[in-house]
Amino acid sequence: MGLIIDKNTCVLCGGCVASCPNGALEITDEIILDEEKCILCGACADSCPVGAISIEKEKKEAQEAGGGIWIAVQQSEGKPLPVALELLGKGRELADTLGCRLTAICPGKSSSFARELIEAGADAVLFLLSDRIGDTDDNAYAHALVPLIRERRPEIVLFGATILGRSAAPAIAAKLGTGLTADCTALSIEPDSRLLAQTRPALGGNLMATIVCPDSRPQMATVRPGIFPCPEPDPARTGTVETILPEGLPKGLITILSQENKSDASGIADADILLVAGRGIGSSKNLKKVFRLAELMKAEVGVSRPLIDMGWAEYPHQVGQTGATVAPKLLISLGVSGAIQHLAGIGGAQTVVAVNTDADAPIMRHADYVVKMDCVEFVEQLTELLQAK
Ligand SMILES: Cc1cc2nc3c(=O)[nH]c(=O)nc-3n(C[C@H](O)[C@H](O)[C@H](O)COP(=O)(O)OP(=O)(O)OC[C@H]3O[C@@H](n4cnc5c(N)ncnc54)[C@H](O)[C@@H]3O)c2cc1C
Repeated sequence: MGLIIDKNTCVLCGGCVASCPNGALEITDEIILDEEKCILCGACADSCPVGAISIEKEKKEAQEAGGGIWIAVQQSEGKPLPVALELLGKGRELADTLGCRLTAICPGKSSSFARELIEAGADAVLFLLSDRIGDTDDNAYAHALVPLIRERRPEIVLFGATILGRSAAPAIAAKLGTGLTADCTALSIEPDSRLLAQTRPALGGNLMATIVCPDSRPQMATVRPGIFPCPEPDPARTGTVETILPEGLPKGLITILSQENKSDASGIADADILLVAGRGIGSSKNLKKVFRLAELMKAEVGVSRPLIDMGWAEYPHQVGQTGATVAPKLLISLGVSGAIQHLAGIGGAQTVVAVNTDADAPIMRHADYVVKMDCVEFVEQLTELLQAK
């Protein structure tokens, strides 16, 4: 991959010099490129009025068998994060469609959980063992993964959209000169082309876009926790385990001095039963009734975004595209319309009960059970019923 300047076409107008964010271009009696400074952002090519600048991209052939699908497993306190297991479940499905191997690649300090990853769907587990790779160190994480991806050439690499995944995956994609689709809510394979169809909300969440990466490999995506179900462990599965000790990893750019939980409300992502209140709940006083009902049901409370905007609840309670992704066994939606940005966060719920006065509200089409009534009355009646028990 490189910048190509056609010096015969160039009219030395200087537009590219002005547009370059890194000062990589200079005009004397010809145009001069400092390759050390060029980050191949393409701003110069876009600004050139005569089309004298282009970026040559290596067209990497779709991967031959052997590369397979990789799931980047993030570990914390010696255990894989649940999102890694969710991705292994989805990865297994994609690998079966492609007829390729599924590898769990685990940069970090511990190598004790291979069995769990194999039972979740991995054919191979590859530990990149180093004390340098902490739970938050994207720099070392990226340095450990990039050479291995170059060497073993996976076709697809998937990351959890955790804080670490969200910062390491773009760095890795940029170093590899490939694309990355962030925060996918659905993944599938187009079997003929072997392309990964990566679906995510776009244009402010007003439509769902399906993105493919036809020319570069690997195809890379991040997926938010809770989007895919955790697979049932299969103790009969077998797989290989390999450990590599990566060398020359850089020091972390960030040192965590201490950590504290900002709120105790984040239980919504792991809740089995979730009550989600929307604007139809009417007032912050009524929202308190929802919290009371949740106590009786041993449930957690989530809310739609307007309730955060109105100051009725704290942000960690927000469910949706810009809030938490939830996957409870039972979700009771109270006075929520079901806008696409809200639905993006509740796709993993097993059973949805929607209580709404409007039978045509979009949430009603996504619910397993619909109750057409005032949601405040519903909350009051259910509370009475449970208290009477
Ligand atoms: C970029 C972007 C990101 C966003 N991210 C999120 C997000 O993460 N999460 C999120 O929730 N939203 C998000 N939104 C906002 C989203 O578009 C909707 O505006 C929001 O979800 C609507 O919330 P609601 O359903 O509570 O309110 P409304 O749309 O006002 O719906 C209220 C519903 O309650 C019903 N109702 C009214 N009174 C009663 C009653 N007494 N009993 C029963 N039902 C009643 C109505 O029929 C209606 O269906 C985002 C928007 C954008 C542009």
